[in-house]
Amino acid sequence: MEFVADLHIHSHFSRATSRDLTFEHLARWAQLKGVTVVGSGDIAHPGWLQEMRDRLEPAEDGLFRLKDDLAAAVQQTVPPACQAPVRFLLAGEISNIYKRHGQTRKVHNVVCAPDFDTVAKIQAALERIGNIRSDGRPILGLDSRDLLEIILTISPQCHLIPAHIWTPWFAMLGSKSGFDSVEECFGDLTPAIFALETGLSSDPPMNWRISNLDRYTLVSNSDAHSPPKLAREATLFDTELSYAALFQALRTGDPATFRGTVEFFPEEGKYHLDGHRKCNVCWEPATTRAHQGLCSVCGKEVTIGVLHRVEALADRPAGQRPPRAAPFTSLIPLPEILGEAAGVGAGSKQVEQAYHKLLAALGPELFILRSAPLPAIAGAGGERLAEGIGRMRRGEVQADAGYDGDYGVIRLFAAAQPGAGLFQDGLFAARPGRPCGPARRRSTCACAALRPGSRPPASKWPNRRRPSPTPRRPRGCWHRSTPNSARR
Ligand SMILES: [Zn+2]
Ligand SMILES: [Zn+2]
Repeated sequence: MEFVADLHIHSHFSRATSRDLTFEHLARWAQLKGVTVVGSGDIAHPGWLQEMRDRLEPAEDGLFRLKDDLAAAVQQTVPPACQAPVRFLLAGEISNIYKRHGQTRKVHNVVCAPDFDTVAKIQAALERIGNIRSDGRPILGLDSRDLLEIILTISPQCHLIPAHIWTPWFAMLGSKSGFDSVEECFGDLTPAIFALETGLSSDPPMNWRISNLDRYTLVSNSDAHSPPKLAREATLFDTELSYAALFQALRTGDPATFRGTVEFFPEEGKYHLDGHRKCNVCWEPATTRAHQGLCSVCGKEVTIGVLHRVEALADRPAGQRPPRAAPFTSLIPLPEILGEAAGVGAGSKQVEQAYHKLLAALGPELFILRSAPLPAIAGAGGERLAEGIGRMRRGEVQADAGYDGDYGVIRLFAAAQPGAGLFQDGLFAARPGRPCGPARRRSTCACAALRPGSRPPASKWPNRRRPSPTPRRPRGCWHRSTPNSARR
């Protein structure tokens, strides 16, 4: 049976993460989200390894579960509609910063290991290289290739997945400090790399434009810094529950066992387009090229986003689908949909209450977003919520794309529409004083000013089904994404 895995998260030992990143909270949120296999996070941190040993016990081969007494306490906090087994897989991120071919490289890599003793050996090896105790995601002056060699020497069952490969500042193919290919980064050990994490700002069709990446399995994970962010992106499997079976699916990309990914709309990621957040300059790649990459406000180099970087390395036009390409689905986090539908912030108390009420009625968030029947959603959450989720599933969204570290905003409803439905249906406890639209909205976008009239009207939705999986992107910061139905 198909299950969801999220193999790249963090623990409370990582900088700028939630104190709630404990195995108990993770086990609870995995059930609320509908995730079966969760990465442990922070594999290099000795304190976190101690917590693994204290709180987890071996389950299936290479997988772990919460010890019984802890699990029983967690189950008290999970509604019956969401209760399901959760497994942990030992995996965590390492930040490699080093010189290669005369340039500074900053690459994040996810390392996976089959058991506690192997993790202890990895930590012992890494502690000889740098400080692994001050940050759950340690920064090591260690070449990515050499990290791979270290873990493979410790155990051939260890694996390395380059993390969020397009992020400008910290990734294998990043514009600022990455490489132009997997081979350039991993050299003679390239054959040991079989999966790449596409990150929040890119989706599979963007990666399909680089034929060099065809032989890699494209995975997605949340990179969560707090439990509620779990599975905002995730990978789908249909294998037996075991470490070896999961990696066999990733290694082969066999469509019977590797079932594709659950994705953000890539415009929602923090580095989709180019620009300067401080200067409120947000550009499509072509606009950036027309300005020789220099900000029109401050004159400094803009941060090159993922779309631009993909275009720079692409050897295929948008819209072509390589033979091995796996299916994927683009989703919007349920709290964002609830917030937009009701005209309140996604982080508001009202949304939180409505969220848990819906999960208790229908089941885990990913089930609600991906496959719950719309009439059931309407029954539990109102017609407007069902309409919003239907639009998301059909890809009828408007995107205000992220750039230079600022998340984008994906909208399902025109800004002026009131959010009455949810209140009439009683999903929210009280009417808000003032509808405020989406949680966050950017005031202006420089490319709209540069290209007057480039913005598609807010009130029209694309209802065409596109034959090709990647749309031609309209100029300007507003995009429409491909219907999920056109993606398989
Ligand atoms: Zn990272
Ligand atoms: Zn600027």
